Amino acid sequence: MEHIEHIGIAVKDLTTAIPLYEQLLNTPCYKCELVASEGVETAFFATGINKIELLQSTTPEGVIAKFIEKRGEGLHHIAYAVTDIKAEMERLKAAGYTLLNSVPKAGADNKWICFVHPKNTNGVLMELCQDRG
Ligand code: ZN
Repeated sequence: MEHIEHIGIAVKDLTTAIPLYEQLLNTPCYKCELVASEGVETAFFATGINKIELLQSTTPEGVIAKFIEKRGEGLHHIAYAVTDIKAEMERLKAAGYTLLNSVPKAGADNKWICFVHPKNTNGVLMELCQDRG
């Protein structure tokens, strides 16, 4: 792992969360992106080399909607930058961790991503992400 790439925060409503985070971080949201395959609308903020990613569900059955239903709004995942996501996935799988996808999938902000189940990571969903170039 190289560094924390971004921190994902589950929110109910981006229309109120975006101006809130623009004020909190004193920086404008630089990108909103729909990830249809995940059922999420995302909003990104630059914080140095890291980013904050706000996530809102696009459907009541989506993973973010279910997360908020169970745990409320808040920290959803921590994403780590990697240079070779396939190698990292193989390393973690061989060490017994549960990966939520078997091949890298296209995520927001031009990344290949893979999630590691929070049961293996002290309760925090972990995301690996590699630039798609
Ligand atoms: Zn993320």
